[in-house]
Amino acid sequence: MSASVVVVGAGYAGVMAANRLKSRSEDTRVIVVNPRPAFVERIRLHQLVTGSSDATIPFERVLHPGVELRVGTVERIDPQAGSIGLGDGEHLAYDHLIYAVGSTDRRDHIPGASEHAFSLSEFEQAHLLRLRLRALPRPLAVTVIGGGLTGVEAAAELAEEDPEIAVTLVSDSPVAPALPPRTRRTILATLATLGVTVIDGNRVAEIAEGKVTLADGRILQSDCTVLATSFAVPDLARRSGLEVDADGRLLVDGTLTSLGTPSIVGAGDAVAGPPDELGHLRMSCQAALPMGAHAADTVLARLGGTEPAPLSLGFVGQCISLGRQRGAFQPTRADDAPAWPAVTGRAGALVKEQICDATVQWMAKQATRGSYRWRRGPH
Ligand SMILES: Cc1cc2nc3c(=O)[nH]c(=O)nc-3n(C[C@H](O)[C@H](O)[C@H](O)COP(=O)(O)OP(=O)(O)OC[C@H]3O[C@@H](n4cnc5c(N)ncnc54)[C@H](O)[C@@H]3O)c2cc1C
Repeated sequence: MSASVVVVGAGYAGVMAANRLKSRSEDTRVIVVNPRPAFVERIRLHQLVTGSSDATIPFERVLHPGVELRVGTVERIDPQAGSIGLGDGEHLAYDHLIYAVGSTDRRDHIPGASEHAFSLSEFEQAHLLRLRLRALPRPLAVTVIGGGLTGVEAAAELAEEDPEIAVTLVSDSPVAPALPPRTRRTILATLATLGVTVIDGNRVAEIAEGKVTLADGRILQSDCTVLATSFAVPDLARRSGLEVDADGRLLVDGTLTSLGTPSIVGAGDAVAGPPDELGHLRMSCQAALPMGAHAADTVLARLGGTEPAPLSLGFVGQCISLGRQRGAFQPTRADDAPAWPAVTGRAGALVKEQICDATVQWMAKQATRGSYRWRRGPH
């Protein structure tokens, strides 16, 4: 009888894993469970907010035709029984499971965030933010909280799209702290050109209706407050009794196999690997795609009765859009440390756009040719 593999989550990691499995082992039954009937391009959700992209692609364009899509949410994994429980009460059996549930926003770290903040971390939240922004009268004060790349992209996108939105970007650290000073200066200059006010080195102490309060006591008028702080992960692995780290990420070994549960393999944002082998992997689409491919290879090795190999994965660059006209591509070493000068301005925007398109093409090609490769890691 052919083996059955369930992939939980059809984001970048899950789709890549499912396509690789099916394209390399036609006899294997591959079922993907995902809450939505279309693929969400999370890396374009700031564009969904302003309307320059709908950030969704029909699964027919990215998923192997032989992969079965089950629209639903996995409520529980039972590793002893080898089954999952879905939100509608149904159960599905599996021989191997790929855990690829991604990430979401964090709301527990700023008082008032749950009640008063919007977010662009997931499709539904980005859509709500879009509706809210469209409904509010102009001129409008928007505060974006978080000076990482998602916060920078959101602030630039909003400011460029509507000059009547006064955007303030608040960050408790310097903006885009992982980038080298020259690239940061270019990004800050572009934000200034777009009219974004940057307040860095200052924490948001509280969010309330119409305002945010900073740690130094300053109060900013904020008709709409947008969270772009660090990501949290769904608690499905923890709830299911699997080994997780303090943040609830599934703990895996170098082959991406869940610690203590060989029938489960993980990939993407929701997974944490051994610090000395995979500790350099930040949550990103860039890491999720090769992790998904490698998770499939680990399952394929087990199906074929061979030992799975450890993942070796290196980064290539950091890509930032600054509205639709400008951007920055910072080449990096395999360990994600900056290397060589960044490509910025219009050329940076073109590189970013090409990479966003390429992510979808890489997944789709994996469904037909099975040839996806990546840069090896630093170790
Ligand atoms: C605005 C924005 C811009 C970004 N820009 C970049 C960028 O330029 N470059 C980059 O590398 N990264 C970027 N990222 C980060 C990137 O989107 C994530 O790191 C990436 O999506 C992780 O891929 P994943 O497959 O692990 O998870 P996801 O893409 O989040 O997919 C996980 C899927 O699992 C589903 N799921 C969750 N729980 C369950 C459940 N219980 N049952 C079934 N399904 C479930 C989710 O709904 C989702 O469909 C950006 C993120 C945002 C929000």
